[in-house]
Amino acid sequence: MKTQRQINWLEALQPLFKKYRGKKHPLTHENRYQLVVKVILSARDSDKHINEIAPALFKEYPSIKELATAKSDDLYPFIGSVTNFANKAAWLVELAKTLGEDKYIPKNLEGLTALPGIGRKSANVIMSESGDEMEGVIVDLHVLRVAPRLGIAKGANPEKIEKQLMEKIPQKYWKPLGMSLTYLGRELCRPTNPRCPECPMNPVCEYYQKQK
Ligand code: SF4
Repeated sequence: MKTQRQINWLEALQPLFKKYRGKKHPLTHENRYQLVVKVILSARDSDKHINEIAPALFKEYPSIKELATAKSDDLYPFIGSVTNFANKAAWLVELAKTLGEDKYIPKNLEGLTALPGIGRKSANVIMSESGDEMEGVIVDLHVLRVAPRLGIAKGANPEKIEKQLMEKIPQKYWKPLGMSLTYLGRELCRPTNPRCPECPMNPVCEYYQKQK
């Protein structure tokens, strides 16, 4: 019979939390409005690309108030190179008209996920970067790959992975948990040829232990 691994995950994750403590999110932003817009635009696109195209958009539409006056196709000259830009333009304008001003951007998961173009993962990113009290853990494509490799969660369903992470780690660590797993996936735990010998999680990683 297979023996169940007994791992204190909170303790095991400390080197990872330390490695990525204070690291800034790759989507640069000066305020919550910019963060929300960039998170919506970055779905299925790269953070680097969104950082490049966003300054011109924010020059024309510096806040939700100005964005609320736009029609979707007014945004095309600014975001036309972004994946799925027509839908994203429609979502941004609808969101702006719904909220009216930056100060009405919700600070909780329920409010954020009620807005067009914002799912649970995006809401968790926005709350994490804004310093809101976390109601979940960021599970993006990186976390979806890294968590099962580590053995901290099983399966391939984002919501089920998130639930397992939330059960294993206390709420006050949900922000560093999501951020450090996503950075690990971006930097070391790549889809092919993960750089295990350099990884601070290799002493407990199920994938690495099986390769040895
Ligand atoms: S040891 Fe390797 S497989 Fe495990 S988390 Fe680190 S990079 Fe990924």
